[in-house]
Amino acid sequence: MRWRPAMNDPVDLVVVGGGLAGLSLATRLVRGGYAGRVVILEPRGEYVDDRSWAFWTPAHHALPVAPARQWNHWQFSRQDGEPVTRRAPGWRYAYIRSLDLYRNALALIASRPNFRLLMGTRANAVDASGGHLSVATTAGTFPTSFVVDTRPAAMDRFSGSTLFQCFSGRELRFDQARFDDSRVELMTDMRSDALGFVFSYVLPLSPTRALVEATRFSTRALGQAQLCADLDQTLAARGWSNAQVLRTETAVLPMGLPAPDVAEPIAGVAHAGMGAGALRAASGFGFVRIQAWADRCARELLQGRPPVGHPAEPKVQGWMDRVFLRALANNPARSPEFFLRLASSVPGEAFVRFMSEQGGWRDHARIIAALPPGPFLQALHGPSLRPRPST
Ligand SMILES: Cc1cc2nc3c(=O)[nH]c(=O)nc-3n(C[C@H](O)[C@H](O)[C@H](O)COP(=O)(O)OP(=O)(O)OC[C@H]3O[C@@H](n4cnc5c(N)ncnc54)[C@H](O)[C@@H]3O)c2cc1C
Repeated sequence: MRWRPAMNDPVDLVVVGGGLAGLSLATRLVRGGYAGRVVILEPRGEYVDDRSWAFWTPAHHALPVAPARQWNHWQFSRQDGEPVTRRAPGWRYAYIRSLDLYRNALALIASRPNFRLLMGTRANAVDASGGHLSVATTAGTFPTSFVVDTRPAAMDRFSGSTLFQCFSGRELRFDQARFDDSRVELMTDMRSDALGFVFSYVLPLSPTRALVEATRFSTRALGQAQLCADLDQTLAARGWSNAQVLRTETAVLPMGLPAPDVAEPIAGVAHAGMGAGALRAASGFGFVRIQAWADRCARELLQGRPPVGHPAEPKVQGWMDRVFLRALANNPARSPEFFLRLASSVPGEAFVRFMSEQGGWRDHARIIAALPPGPFLQALHGPSLRPRPST
């Protein structure tokens, strides 16, 4: 019979947040046969297709769910400039539809009587008084042995970010073929204006469907009105304004978020997901990093050990990302040049390895050599170069 968690009913693990990090951990625990009682707390009442996860992955690497599309080529271009098309043999750029991942996770969780996803339930506080852990929620309090907290950072903590990646996107459909679906437009129409650096991102899902986003790297978190105006302008310039809109997605992602302010770590409580620094500073990508954390955390729990939080940034890469972000923040007008230099001078495999955190010292050297020294030497000075501690 399915176990029904009741108020004050002790559980083995509370996962706070049923988003990417929380569900990725839960699915691994289900697959690994975790025998303890697990409660996953999620405020939303329904899962919808609210985001697209795209990332580079080795061609034969198993993914948590089948990607909706994958591509071997990607493009960079300046506004009105010729595109630079790159590829990396042995790698693909994959796109996972969020609803596919959510549905897969929900089905797995529902298949085990010792796992419960409590929708419409918000965690208020994690308490460790008297040496006992508990999570107070809108549905009551759960005493627990372990907590994995994946709540996103509060908006006020975002203000410490070096840059914000702000975008608005629409999935479009035409009755007739309009998109070249042989390659992704990773950063095209790159330009800068009074609000900073801006570019288009186009995932052509088929000749008739595409996700089109207008993205800004800005020193301010920009509002919806501005982002929608950017996207309208992009669609008008391409002649795509009259497409049917299947869905929308939008985000303001922190780039170079300062370390979380965890006053005193609590034994048995681990922090993960974007609130714990899972987004790569230089790209805002988090999918692959969250999968790697979920693998590790599930392994620990399956061995009867406490959960682990999102790991500290690798030192060299973290340093390079912080310098790069600062150079972008200081030089929005030159940002198109920086990305085009990377696209043109760094071999596709080296670029992808660096972006996927598989880069060795040769790849790091190629990235540094491709960039103009002046802005990067200047960017060596500044508060955002502090390393990020682990959580
Ligand atoms: C629109 C969008 C597109 C993105 N695209 C990409 C991409 O292409 N590639 C990539 O690598 N990364 C991408 N990212 C970045 C990153 O991968 C995602 O943000 C990812 O969802 C982060 O996972 P998470 O678990 O940290 O956060 P989320 O998936 O947001 O999950 C956090 C969960 O915590 C819940 N929660 C909040 N408060 C509480 C509370 N008090 N109690 C309990 N639960 C709570 C939320 O409801 C949510 O379900 C994108 C992000 C967005 C927003």
